[in-house]
Amino acid sequence: MRNERFIVTRELGKLAKWLRILGYDSIYYEKKQISGLIIQALREKRILLTRSPVLAKYTGIRVIIVRHDHVEDQIEQVTKEMPLPLKDEDLFQRCVECNTPLEDIAKEEAGAKVPEYVFRTQEVFKRCPQCGKIFWKGTHWDMVEKALDKVRGKGRR
Ligand SMILES: [Zn+2]
Repeated sequence: MRNERFIVTRELGKLAKWLRILGYDSIYYEKKQISGLIIQALREKRILLTRSPVLAKYTGIRVIIVRHDHVEDQIEQVTKEMPLPLKDEDLFQRCVECNTPLEDIAKEEAGAKVPEYVFRTQEVFKRCPQCGKIFWKGTHWDMVEKALDKVRGKGRR
């Protein structure tokens, strides 16, 4: 699991989910009060990701002002500025919905909770101990890898 932790402001919900997919602890801060945001970032040593340039003035926390509209460009910016390594083995270590680290489960345990086709074709399953969501290396995974290839490809040019 990765060390860097993030707190992400309201307009960057998609980016928060992507960072979780990539294995990073990232909290989505939904409230409007900036004080609460800053306190949580300080207390939990989280890097603040936001589109709001006014938040750059706070000292004691690292702030990255996200400049792009599209989530792929946002990932590219953040992974370059940090910089963050993007490794396939870090994918899907954290629940996309609630940020909780996933646990491995036996195929039999996933049985009743996933579509029959998935059960027949997949071997590796993970479960979120918090919300109970089951993850597997299916189409979602392929989509993520494709998007990452794009981000990595851009970096090399
Ligand atoms: Zn969850």
